[in-house]
Amino acid sequence: MSKRDWDEECGVFGVLDTDGVLEDAARMAYFGLFALQHRGQESAGIAVNQNGKILCHKEQGLVVEVFSEMTLQTMKGHAAVAHVRYPSSDESGYDSIQPMQIKSRSGHLAISHNGAITNAGELRNQLKQSGAIFQTSADFEVLLSLLARNRITTECIEDAILLMMAEIRGAYSMVIMTNNKLVGVRDPLGIRPLVLGQKGSCYVLASESCALDAVGAKMIRDILPGEVITISKEGISSHYFVPKETAQKKGRICIFEFVYFARPDSIIDGSSVYESRLNTGRILAKESPCDCDLVVGAPDSGLAAAMGYALESGLPYGSALLKNRYVGRTFVQPSQLAREMTVQLKFSVMKRAVEGKRILMVDDSIVRGTTTRHNIAMLREAGATEVHMRVASPPLCYPCFYGVNTPDQKELSAGLSSVEQVRAHIGADSLSYVSLEGLKSSTTGIHCGHCSSCFDGEFPAGVPEKSKDQIHRIHW
Ligand code: AMP
Repeated sequence: MSKRDWDEECGVFGVLDTDGVLEDAARMAYFGLFALQHRGQESAGIAVNQNGKILCHKEQGLVVEVFSEMTLQTMKGHAAVAHVRYPSSDESGYDSIQPMQIKSRSGHLAISHNGAITNAGELRNQLKQSGAIFQTSADFEVLLSLLARNRITTECIEDAILLMMAEIRGAYSMVIMTNNKLVGVRDPLGIRPLVLGQKGSCYVLASESCALDAVGAKMIRDILPGEVITISKEGISSHYFVPKETAQKKGRICIFEFVYFARPDSIIDGSSVYESRLNTGRILAKESPCDCDLVVGAPDSGLAAAMGYALESGLPYGSALLKNRYVGRTFVQPSQLAREMTVQLKFSVMKRAVEGKRILMVDDSIVRGTTTRHNIAMLREAGATEVHMRVASPPLCYPCFYGVNTPDQKELSAGLSSVEQVRAHIGADSLSYVSLEGLKSSTTGIHCGHCSSCFDGEFPAGVPEKSKDQIHRIHW
């Protein structure tokens, strides 16, 4: 499988003032995107509804780089949809930046989408056969094309969306703005998150609750799996693709949101991301104890789990590694050499904290092993006598087909190697991962089940046709 074919993990945001008086919807979206920046650093965009006309500004870069005060001043309107996109070495042209808009027979529409449509290729071919034209290879263009086509035969946008949901497979959450509505959509299994908040007469939809906090909106609830929620000056109403009564119970939120992706201050489907990371650390300590002098976290993603490990084990917790905030994410660098160099710039070690000590390091996950191998080598050079590795997620064995940017299975360190081989590769004295059961139980208070396909290879929303034969099944 090539990453090129899939949309990456992203952040979406939408706002609409039901009184229609708000002028600063774009500014609210700007703050919302700012809080969602961790979900995507490649590009940012906002489309605003200016008296029924949609105005869009989008560019490559971080939210602060893309929007100047002057730009925001010109983007007056009572509703907006917005998007941040994950960095990737591929498909990074201007045409792929969201929100994307179309003018169809039934009006103007803008969409921000997070996730991956596993049958996008087949749908694209079918649409082409009937005359559709595509300018990008992105999933959202297929969605727009389906929407425009379905809208011709339906009474309202919601019906066109429900028809589209019957045609697409995969994981997605999206916000769609028409000239008089804001519509939020969550996939039938609720794999990708979407929340609803309120600030006075304004309603907000966002990938994570941290974006609601950023704009001063109070959280109302998670959008249900398969729910199509409409916000307009008439208020709020919902359509359901799956029966409302069973939607939550059958939901399968992506467990990797809790492991790595979401911001720790977010609450997803009833469970706190920070608490789940802390709990995972505690569970890890019970499952894989270690005789050592100091527990440290790999910054920043392993810190909460390391704290949990230390609390449970009673071992001292400390800082040993520092992260340079100004270096981008290493994981998505195009080559292994580039990744190694960036990791070197990214972390530094506090020698005095580790000299002569047996260190236990906790990180949220091992993907290729580049970061861990480097950090372990640094700790040893700084004088650590032993370095033990504990990972707050199970071995990452399978690629994600649902919107998280993971490499090919053969590049995943645990994809085709045993735990012992990974231990040798990263140079640790010992290596253990938390069990999948342990990880699942860390999300206390959760309203639904989990999608853990990257760990167990069970893909609840299917696998793209052409990737089916390429997945190598792993039996531990
Ligand atoms: P690696 O160096 O390839 O083993 O990557 C491991 C590091 O990447 C860990 O510290 C994780 O916090 C981080 N990570 C895990 N998943 C992702 C992802 N999908 N995108 C970017 N970074 C990730």
